Amino acid sequence: MENLISANRELWFDWKWQLMNSLKRIEDIVDYFPFLKEDLENLKWVTKKYRFSVTPYYLSLAENDPDDPILKQIIPDVLEIARRGDPDPYREDEHSPVPHLVHRYSDRVVLLVTNICPVYCRHCMRKRWWRRKGYVLRGPLLEEALNYIRAHEEVKDVLLSGGEPLLLKDEELDYILSKLREIKHLKVLRIGSRVPVTLPMRLTESLGRVFEKYAPIYINTHFNHPRELSDFTIERMKNFTRYGVIWGNQTVLLKGVNDSVEILKELFYNLLSAGVRPYYLFQCDPVEGVEHFRVPLSRAIEIYRQLMNFSGMALPKFALDLPEGGGKVIISSPCEVRKMENGYLVRSNDRGEVFYPDPPFK
Ligand code: SF4
Repeated sequence: MENLISANRELWFDWKWQLMNSLKRIEDIVDYFPFLKEDLENLKWVTKKYRFSVTPYYLSLAENDPDDPILKQIIPDVLEIARRGDPDPYREDEHSPVPHLVHRYSDRVVLLVTNICPVYCRHCMRKRWWRRKGYVLRGPLLEEALNYIRAHEEVKDVLLSGGEPLLLKDEELDYILSKLREIKHLKVLRIGSRVPVTLPMRLTESLGRVFEKYAPIYINTHFNHPRELSDFTIERMKNFTRYGVIWGNQTVLLKGVNDSVEILKELFYNLLSAGVRPYYLFQCDPVEGVEHFRVPLSRAIEIYRQLMNFSGMALPKFALDLPEGGGKVIISSPCEVRKMENGYLVRSNDRGEVFYPDPPFK
């Protein structure tokens, strides 16, 4: 990996160079991770259905170990094909009144501005979109989506998502954000982006200047493991707060990547110290091609229960999306309460049952 970095040191921090030099065939990375040779034909077969791409930067975070948490998120697995699942369990396609816009909850919409990503994460919940031709939302289809938002006053919150929204050019993002800011009933502009994880060089000064015009911009990013928080990305994210960006993070609980209290604790504290609020911990849901990452719900709840002993600031909400469009559910503190005379017995995480008195005056 050192060779990859040292041979390209001058251009390493140029996001366009990183994109142009992304490794798009699994055989391109075998020299760095020789253990992949054994299974190469199978891996190539998987990429015929679910594409592969990784930036040199994200690859440089990986170690030559089949159990490496970075590699697990980028190396295809035959289980993506072998196990069946629902390609769209959240029924996004059914809740799409105009192309590239999802309106599942009355007060918010998701605008899917592209289906292209710098890194294709094996656990992506929109894998079904990878098979479509690459697009960027512009022209009449963008106008149709903007008109839909203008016509729906109940919508207060727009999330630009994809794909990777920050792959759009600065001018394209400027145009979309300016049109959204003109809509008086919109209160919240959010972007879901994984560039801080996979391509932090994209957080350029000129992009910051675009956000500054429409601040506050809430960016939900997606760190899953503490090793993804490099010094470089921390510096860029901290710098971006000066442009009115407010960072949040959503982590997906992934078997073999971060299904451990210690890993999540380190991740959440490190995020906080980088100025990023851990916002959601998502249960990995039954999406086709992703099932092998799922942790049983009972184990997930037990992990979360143990996390609850740490600082509230470091504790994200634990959420799962119910299948067949059942909607998002927050699994909050699984606490037991028993009614007693003059009060309750409440089971605490670490002290067993504790008496909680009723107010003295009824
Ligand atoms: S960056 Fe996001 S949208 Fe793109 S593959 Fe990864 S999880 Fe999916």
